[in-house]
Amino acid sequence: MALYKTRAIVIKSFNLSESDRLITFMTEYHGKVKCVAKGARKIKNRFWGALEPMSFINLIYFGKEHQSLFRLNNSDIIESFHTIRDDFDKLYTGVYFIDLIDSMVLEGHPEKKIFGLLYQSLAALDLQTELEPLRRLFEIRLLSLSGYAPQLDHCVLCKNLPQYNMIPFSYAHNGILCQTCSNRTRIDIQFSTGTKNYIKKLLDVDIRTCGRLKFPKTQAEEIGKVTHRLVLSHLGRELKSYPFIKKMAEFSI
Ligand SMILES: [Zn+2]
Repeated sequence: MALYKTRAIVIKSFNLSESDRLITFMTEYHGKVKCVAKGARKIKNRFWGALEPMSFINLIYFGKEHQSLFRLNNSDIIESFHTIRDDFDKLYTGVYFIDLIDSMVLEGHPEKKIFGLLYQSLAALDLQTELEPLRRLFEIRLLSLSGYAPQLDHCVLCKNLPQYNMIPFSYAHNGILCQTCSNRTRIDIQFSTGTKNYIKKLLDVDIRTCGRLKFPKTQAEEIGKVTHRLVLSHLGRELKSYPFIKKMAEFSI
């Protein structure tokens, strides 16, 4: 038996029995981990607050090294991100982030950079009012940290630079295409050079200030289409939380 101490973010939690809960965490050093919290439903004061999805906590759990289910020993809250919970737009965005982590990250693989992305994105969501750049940043960086960064610098097939302002893109090849290659390959979408440049900026802008990166109205939709469709092409399905975000975005226009 080993005892693990790590900082973690709660991904999801559901009732296993009258008194126990099963909780998925994204941990700082051990990747995604599932723990059973015995008696968690009875000892409300001690556990409940720290086990809400999105809470940033100190976590202690134990179990054998290569098993897939651990036992929660203790948890206490570092940051609950309560501003996120008080605002529907922020709440659904946060739920979308943790849904994406749950769908794209495998259990038992240390993913310190992905943990850092999730923590910094929730911290930014807590403070920022401009949410669209943060959503797109999260999508494209999670893809990139998972090894699916699209090729945006040159044609993914022949390395030539794109010749026109509207750039063809292939999901199958995960990159942009030059004119010659686009004539013999299936094009899934085309986007402007401006959109390509914004997506590249999202890959290295400071998360804490990405809200300042206001997308021009005409490009916001195009950028969202590209980054979100990249997510869909890797997941092969839509996440339940995403339609809510789209609805909230339509209300705010
Ligand atoms: Zn080419």
